[in-house]
Amino acid sequence: MARKLTIAIDGPGSAGKGTVARWVARTLGYRYVDTGAMYRAVALVALRRGVQLDDGKDMGALAEGLEFDMAWDGDVLHSFVDGEDITPGLREESVGRAASDVSRLPPVRAALLSTQRSLARKGGIVMDGRDIGTVVLPDADLKIYLDADLDERARRRHEELIRRGDVRSFAEVRDALELRDRQDRERSVAPLVCAPDAVRVDTTDLTLRAAVDRVLELVARRLAADAR
Ligand code: C5P
Repeated sequence: MARKLTIAIDGPGSAGKGTVARWVARTLGYRYVDTGAMYRAVALVALRRGVQLDDGKDMGALAEGLEFDMAWDGDVLHSFVDGEDITPGLREESVGRAASDVSRLPPVRAALLSTQRSLARKGGIVMDGRDIGTVVLPDADLKIYLDADLDERARRRHEELIRRGDVRSFAEVRDALELRDRQDRERSVAPLVCAPDAVRVDTTDLTLRAAVDRVLELVARRLAADAR
């Protein structure tokens, strides 16, 4: 039987990471871990509890104390924190912005890092985020950096928000995405960067189906190299 790989997928917001990672995981029968959902969950709980988002000590303690879980219900991946299904609300703009704020804090990153590494220990996993190939799983079997032009990513994000009933102008969505990307790229800990050994896949002109096929092709190549 083929070895079960560890696959890291990184890239900026709305490049298609989540959709591609889920699809690849389901096709291969691997587990999928959405690390962005973990940062979003920390931000959501902090907003609810009124914890100051720039307080490293309090935010680190909060992140440290949370128990994360994810489970599929049909095609929907639900995120749980301390047993509560927090999926509704997790993808809201305000939560994404707050997640980017708290993800700059080293104590928050340290708390999530150990959870993320332990989830990947047994292999057979697709994990997506910003620092998976660079920091969380530097020895991953396959690293993908999924990218797309800002306008195309903003178009996808705008559509996602409209589908959820959150109607905003395209310009507002584009500006918010650009700001969050800049913050993620310029932070001092675990910034968003393409790992030197990652394969770059630009999805600007690709359907997500084609992006999934490209990743599956890279997986097949990796497994064939193992067999040689
Ligand atoms: O991918 P998603 O938009 O859900 O991530 C929300 C935020 O969480 C990102 O903008 C980023 O600041 C942070 N994040 C991170 N490291 C990861 C995953 C997400 O810093 N591995």
